[in-house]
This record gives sequence, structure tokens and C-alpha cells, in this order.
Amino acid sequence: MPEREPAGERIYRGIALAGGVVHARVLRIGQGTPEIPDRTLVPDETEGELRRFQQALVDTRHQIQEVQRRVAVAMGAHEAGIFDAHLLVLEDVALLDQVKALIRDHHVNAEAAFHRVAGKYASALDAVDDEYLRERAADLRDVSSRVLNHLLGLAGESELSRLREPVVVVAHDITPSMTALIDRTKVLGFATDVGGRTSHTAIMARKLRIPAVAGLVDVSRRVQTGDYALVDGHGGALIVNPTDATLFQYGQIRERHAALEHRLGDLRDQAAVTLDGTRLILASNIEEPGDIPAVRASGSEGVGLFRTEFLFLSRAMPPDEEQQFEAYREVAAACAPAPVIIRTLDLGGDKLFPGQHVEANPFLGWRAIRISLSQPAQFSLQLRAILRASAHGCVKLMYPMISSVEELITANQILQSCRDELTAAGIPFDPKMEVGAMIEIPSAALIATALAAHVQFFSLGTNDLTQYTLAVDRMNERVAHLHSSTHPAVLRLIQMTVDAAHARGGWVGVCGEMAGDPATIPLLVGLGVDELSATPAVIPAAKFLLRRMKTSEARDLVKRAMECGSADEILRQSQDLARSVAPELFEGSRPAGLK
Ligand code: PEP
Ligand code: MG
Repeated sequence: MPEREPAGERIYRGIALAGGVVHARVLRIGQGTPEIPDRTLVPDETEGELRRFQQALVDTRHQIQEVQRRVAVAMGAHEAGIFDAHLLVLEDVALLDQVKALIRDHHVNAEAAFHRVAGKYASALDAVDDEYLRERAADLRDVSSRVLNHLLGLAGESELSRLREPVVVVAHDITPSMTALIDRTKVLGFATDVGGRTSHTAIMARKLRIPAVAGLVDVSRRVQTGDYALVDGHGGALIVNPTDATLFQYGQIRERHAALEHRLGDLRDQAAVTLDGTRLILASNIEEPGDIPAVRASGSEGVGLFRTEFLFLSRAMPPDEEQQFEAYREVAAACAPAPVIIRTLDLGGDKLFPGQHVEANPFLGWRAIRISLSQPAQFSLQLRAILRASAHGCVKLMYPMISSVEELITANQILQSCRDELTAAGIPFDPKMEVGAMIEIPSAALIATALAAHVQFFSLGTNDLTQYTLAVDRMNERVAHLHSSTHPAVLRLIQMTVDAAHARGGWVGVCGEMAGDPATIPLLVGLGVDELSATPAVIPAAKFLLRRMKTSEARDLVKRAMECGSADEILRQSQDLARSVAPELFEGSRPAGLK
């Protein structure tokens, strides 16, 4: 139950995920432990209450079967089998009879009756020292919370797609699959207890231009649906019950940002070239064909990263080959002649279907190319769709999470059989389509020379490269301050990757968040990367900076950085360089005087 908070303005500080300032009523969703009403029924209520309980069981069954269907198609029958245990809970006669007896004979309302009985069973299973039974307790808790949500009519994640009023969403966590459901005209901003700057939820918030703040500890217990709140996505704060003075000050900040955006818009058709003539490619990261208008408006040159897994997360059923082909073709044709780099599926980690089994270490587990290589039929389906789209524009393909030469060779072999199939069937594709590997695991950077023999380009995923190099979970707000892409170890791995690609005549892009951050762009320019790819919203600022800086100064910066041990100091020096040529991009965003 939310704690009672004092009246008046309250400021909660966290991590800024996506810039912008908005205010609206709060909608609190996905509460971990909802408040369970406990009341005595009057006698003629019992029949209705039993029917309500029965209906909640039916609705829960349908919900679980839907999740199971999605997981089966995308991840295979084994993964989907986990949900059989959940369905069995709904058929447990002993458990259900006890709930019904409480309702019928003891006049307890359905929520309380179910909560009591399910809780008793789960505690009993937990108490036994047996791995299998403890897992059954977890299944029981999962199913119980679904049944209770149905009984309570609680705002669930699906609510995000059918809101009537604009809201600020406050939740313990918001997953990427939830962000994929968001109605962006109604969710003005969001604030969460947990999360880091390079989580996929943060990335989606920046893409959707939804101001967002994470790492607010227990804010989801401190605010309630119906409270009025302001999200400061620049400074990283949620302000509940903002005073008129606060609203006025933030209004001024909004105006300043709007004026800067207008100015940056003038650069749309200009090239991304530094003052001393280094021409970089500035491309966009996208998640779906619907992002293309934003790519065009941003003045970027095509797509440097198409995160195809979001096509899977935003649908009830995973897309088949035709649906994938259509999505890839649409993007390729819309961007032509500019290139579109399509990344094969990167499911796993924090990108899971609702209800999908969570591994103990999801970022070190069955993720990305590992899933694709273990499911060659599904993988081929995606590769064929990408190859077919290559006949309609300039398509390039890249594999995520490559950690060894063998993976790359196997992926390329499967790709070659897809080419052979299409040739045999007389289906057109671009036989010269470039193929690349993402470098986001230290092992890949360390063997970049060997990998370079099998691809035409590399794309540095600095979000994961930082996570895996520094052993810092990119999702965890407690260690967010340690997730530093300017750490000298990360910079060395980037340097090795660039050198290895260039030595073989290949090229290197960066598509992690570092590529769109004015504070870190000077380092990437100095390290010699050829392309920066970022969410369309930040492209104009990146171009503004590139056109005002000198590559020679960026190279000097990198030389100094390589001798420096401190990530913070390197970041400071890079940011100073950027600020000295483009101070507008760093102007204060927090109102003066606000504590
Ligand atoms: C990265 O890891 O930097 C990257 C671009 O991939 P993703 O953020 O989708 O994991
Ligand atoms: Mg990655």
C-alpha cells in the first residue's frame, strides 16, 4: 500500500533517461503487491462472488495461453512449456475448492479468499528444501498475481495502449515490451523505481520523445494514481504537486529548449562534417517502420541500427517471413538510396515477451545470435526476409552479440544457404549486400582482426560493450554511476576495433547511446569511427556539434585520454571540448533555486 506522504511539493531525484518536461495526472501501474480488500459478504452476494472468481480464472487462462502462444512461435516449444505449470495451477482442485469454501461458507470476498489460500500454499511449498517445489511456489505466485489483477480490475501493462486521458506513468519498472505498447499521445512521461540510462526502456523513451526518469528508489509506493506530477527528463526528477513557481520556471526551460530545437532544425540538409573536413555518416537507430518520418525529419542519412526485435515485442503474434519482409522493404524503400542496417534478432536480456521465463543471468544467457543459431529455421526466415528487402533499397545486415569467429562463420553459412534458396526460387536480392558484426562483447573487440576477415563492417554497441567490459549491469540503477563508456578500457577496445576494420579496408560505426551524446562524440571522432547512429531525436544536436569541432582536437583529446586512468576525467575533458564549441547544447536545464 502506498505510504502516506506530506501535502505540498515533493521532489524525487533519479537518473535522467529522456529529456523534456511534462506534467499531468499520475497513473500508477503494475504494482508488485496490490492492496487486497478483505470484507464479509452479505448472504445473497455469494453466488455472484463465486461467478466473479470463476470468470477471473477463465480470463487468467486466456491471458496465459496468449503469452504461451507468443513465446512458442518466437522462442520454441520448450520455453513455452514453462507456462503449462502455470495453467495447471488454475486446475488445482484442492486449492480452488478451498477458495470456493471460504467464499461460500465463510462469506469472504473472492480477492481475500484467493489471496489467503494461494499465499498459504506458496509459503508451504517455499518451506520445503526442494528446488522443484520452490519453483512451483514461484509459479503459484505468478499465477496468483494474474488472478488477483483480474479480480481487482487493476491497471495492467496492456492499459498503456488504451488510455483516455494524458498521464504520467509511475511504476516500479517499465519493460521494453510495455514501452512497445505505449500510446505516445497519452503517456506524456514516466518515472520508475529502477533502471539505467542504457536500458532498452530508456532507449525507447528517447526514441518516443517521452521525458522519463528512473532510479527513483521507491517512488511507485509514494505516489498514487490521480496525484499531479511533473517529470523533468533533463535534470532527472519527478516533482509531485509542483507549485505555480516551479511550473513557471519549468515553462521557461521548455521555451529555451524549443528555441534551440528550432535552430537545430536548420541543419537538416547539411552534411555532418567537422571544421577540418572529416565527413562522418550520421544515421538513425529505429525499432519499426513507423519511425521513418522521424528519421527524415532529423536530417540523418539512413538507418544505422534497425532493432528488429521490437517488431516481435509489439505484436500479439511474432511476424512471419512476409510480415518481416514487408517491414524491412518499407524501411529500405523509404530510405533509399541511403543505407539501412538491419540487425538480426536481439531478444533476451531485458527484451522479453510479457511473462517469458527470466533466466538467472539474462544478459549472460540465451540472447541475440545465440537464440538465432539455436533456431536455424526461425533465423533463416528472418535472413530471407532481409535478403528479399535488399532488392528494394540499400540494405546491410548485421549480427548482434558476436563473441567468436565460429559464431560468425556459422551465421554466414546459414545466410549463404538462404541466398542459394532464393536464387533457386528466382527471388531477387542484392548479392553484394554488406554484412557486419556488432562489437559489443570484449572478446569480439580483442579478436576484431580475425572477425574482420568475415565481414565488411563493424558496429560498436557501446551500451553492451561497456556493460560487459566493466561488469556493470546496464539496467541496474544502483551501479548506473559505474556504467561509463568513457572508461579507458572501453576506449581501448573501441580503438582496437577501429584499427582492425580499417586495416582490412572495412568501416566502423557506433550505434550505442554514446554515439548520440554530445559529451562523448568528440572521443568517437578522435578514435576514428566512420559512422554515428543514434535515435532521431538527438541527431540534430550531434550534427550541430560535429560541424563546429575539429578532428585534430578530438585526436589530441584521445591521446590524452589513453594516458588517463579515470573515466570521469576523460568524460570531463570530452565534454569540455564539446561545450567549448557548442555551449548551447549544455545549458542548464534545472531551474535556478530548485533544491
Ligand atoms: C548496444 O549494445 O550498444 C546496442 C546498440 O545494442 P542494444 O542497445 O540494442 O543492446
Ligand atoms: Mg547491444
